[in-house]
Amino acid sequence: MTRTPSMEDYLEQIFTLIKEKGYARVADIAEALEVHPSSVTKMIQKLDKSEYLKYEKYRGFVLTPKGKKLGKRLVDRHAILEEFLRLIGVPEGDVVADVEGMEHHVGPETLSALSDLVQFLKEDPKRLAAFREFRARNEEERGEGGAEGGAGAETDVDDGPGAGRPEADDGIGAASGSAGAQAGADQRGGVGAGERANA
Ligand code: ZN
Repeated sequence: MTRTPSMEDYLEQIFTLIKEKGYARVADIAEALEVHPSSVTKMIQKLDKSEYLKYEKYRGFVLTPKGKKLGKRLVDRHAILEEFLRLIGVPEGDVVADVEGMEHHVGPETLSALSDLVQFLKEDPKRLAAFREFRARNEEERGEGGAEGGAGAETDVDDGPGAGRPEADDGIGAASGSAGAQAGADQRGGVGAGERANA
């Protein structure tokens, strides 16, 4: 994380750690958010003051019901955005960084709409396949069009669904029909579900 983590980032991280390990230690939070432990301690005090968590001797930090509720919402929001970006074919390297940037600016209405869009695309593999095909065509046109497209654009075209390459990391071969798209959609569903399970 290149920017300074916000209170939401901390709460999200603490919620995830507690869910995964049963506890959240300052050192683990500091490592996950790439900050100094003293910053974590400071934020813990803030979160304690706002009654999102309670410090307990020997057990570390325990989230209050209020903290759990918000923590879960933050983790779910992250998962939805991540799934959305993957689904529409954003390169993996951009997904994490972009979600970190987007998540704090997305309001409940936008999130709800995106969540439905994700569901809509996954519900019928043909929908996703159609979009991927459409996008691949656009990418191809952009790639052929300007020399200024550069390496990035070319890479995108290569990774595009239309390429029909078996090694395409998204697993969604739009051109190959519904079977491939289904597999891709299922895979994505798995990722999302896993994240939610961790939440
Ligand atoms: Zn996040």
